[in-house]
Amino acid sequence: MKVLITAGPTREAIDPVRYLSNFSSGKMGYAIAEAARDAGHEVVLVSGPTALKPPEGVQFQSVISADEMLESVLTNIINVDAFIAVAAVADYRPEKALPEKHKKNDLKWQMNLVKNPDILATVSQSVRPRPFCVGFAAETNNVLRYGREKLERKGLDMIAINDVSRDDLGMDHEYNALHILWSTGEATFPKQKKPALAKQFWQLIEEQFNAVHTS
Ligand code: C5P
Repeated sequence: MKVLITAGPTREAIDPVRYLSNFSSGKMGYAIAEAARDAGHEVVLVSGPTALKPPEGVQFQSVISADEMLESVLTNIINVDAFIAVAAVADYRPEKALPEKHKKNDLKWQMNLVKNPDILATVSQSVRPRPFCVGFAAETNNVLRYGREKLERKGLDMIAINDVSRDDLGMDHEYNALHILWSTGEATFPKQKKPALAKQFWQLIEEQFNAVHTS
């Protein structure tokens, strides 16, 4: 299989020295890229800014913003069998990045935020032939309900839900736990280190990919 994976956060410029972002470390996405590579697949990893080393044996594309991530994904999506969107893409960006540094003053600083493109929904709904699409849902409450809604709304084959309200796993942690949903089933992988979890998750992705392609 040719596999395209997004990972890490995106950064959305406010001015030349400031940005909006989130706590994603990229560890889960990089671990999935390594698990897919170890299973013998061709892997392209499109990553936002992280402190991690690009995995060996993987084509690596480094991006900063959501717009750049979308552009890189659309450039690399040709002949991709499975698209795994692990990146914590910033949902909003400042309407205009200021060309010069905003000088602090005693007033409130208000800025307008506009919505970023949804990379996963764009691939799932517009790229043809459509790759097998897997998403992540980081939620703090109603995790299963929001996860199932997201599976349906974005037209995905699978979704991995992680509860980011817990302070011992998930974003910016070594450990994670996943609840995975697809149209005909579900699975729970309990708390463990991200590389071990990624290996199990990858096996499940392959199983479901094969089930869809032989049915
Ligand atoms: O809608 P929400 O951000 O919760 O969806 C999470 C899933 O969608 C993740 O798989 C994430 O990588 C993907 N996503 C995306 N582009 C966005 C927002 C989310 O690809 N702008």
